[in-house]
Amino acid sequence: MIEVHGLSKLYNGVAALSDVTLSVGKGEFVTLLGPSGSGKSTLLNLISGMTTPTSGTILINGTDATTLPTNQRGLGMVFQNYALMPHMTVFQNIAFPLQVRKVGKDEIRQRVMDVLKLIQLEHVAARRPRELSGGQQQRISLARCIVYNPPLILMDEPLGALDKKLREGMQLEIKRLHADLGVTMLYVTHDQDEALTMSDRIVLMRGGKIEQQGTPETLYFKP
Ligand code: ADP
Ligand code: ADP
Repeated sequence: MIEVHGLSKLYNGVAALSDVTLSVGKGEFVTLLGPSGSGKSTLLNLISGMTTPTSGTILINGTDATTLPTNQRGLGMVFQNYALMPHMTVFQNIAFPLQVRKVGKDEIRQRVMDVLKLIQLEHVAARRPRELSGGQQQRISLARCIVYNPPLILMDEPLGALDKKLREGMQLEIKRLHADLGVTMLYVTHDQDEALTMSDRIVLMRGGKIEQQGTPETLYFKP
C-alpha cells in the first residue's frame, strides 16, 4: 500500500528525516514510535502530501504520490487537535468531505448517519463541536475521515489530547474500526504502551532515521 524509498527532508539544511525506506502492506496497522523530534510527523506529512520531500520516492498503491496533491492520494487523516470546523454542526462537519466529492444529498445523509451510528453518536448530529467532550470530538473527526472510505488512514497522535482512561477506550475503538473497515493504518505516537497495544508492526524512529522495526513481540526496547 505504501512504498517509501530513500526519503529525506531538510529544513534549512538540517535533516528532519534522512534516507528512510519503509513499506506498509494492505490492511496492516503500522505505528511510528519515537521521542519528540525524531521525524514521525515529518514522515507522515510527506506521505500525506502536506510537505514535499528533499529527495526520495513515495508510492501509494503503486502510484508515484510525490506529484499528487493531498486530496488525490486516496487517504484520510486524523489529527491530535481534531481540526473540526467550529461554525458547522457535527453533521455538516462529517458531510463536508462528501460534498467536496460531489456526492448526492440523499447519499450524504445516509452515509453520515451510518458513520454516526458506527461511533454511537447519532444523538449529537445537530450540535457544534465546542458543545462536545474531547473524546466525542475526536470520534467525530474519525467519522469525518472514514465517511468517504479511504483505503489508507494516517493518524498523528490522535489521542494525545485525551486523558488516560478515555485514551484506552479510544484505542479499542480505533482497533475495532481498523478491523471492521479493513483499512491500512499508519499511526504516530510517542507512547510505547499505546504502540504495543495497537500495532501489527512498530517502526521505532530516532534522529530522523528508522532505528528498528518489528512486531510488538519481537521489538527490543532499550531499558
Ligand atoms: P516528531 O513528529 O517525531 O516529534 P517532527 O517530524 O515533528 O518530529 O520533527 C523532526 C525534526 O524536524 C525536529 O527537529 C523538528 O524541529 C524539525 N521540523 C519539523 N518541521 C519543521 C519545519 N516546518 N521547519 C523546521 N524544522 C522542522
Ligand atoms: P509534533 O511533535 O506533533 O510533530 P511539533 O510541535 O513538532 O509537533 O510541530 C508542529 C508543527 O510545527 C508542524 O507543522 C511542524 O512541521 C512545525 N515545526 C516543528 N518544528 C519546527 C521548527 N523547528 N521550525 C518551524 N516549524 C516547526
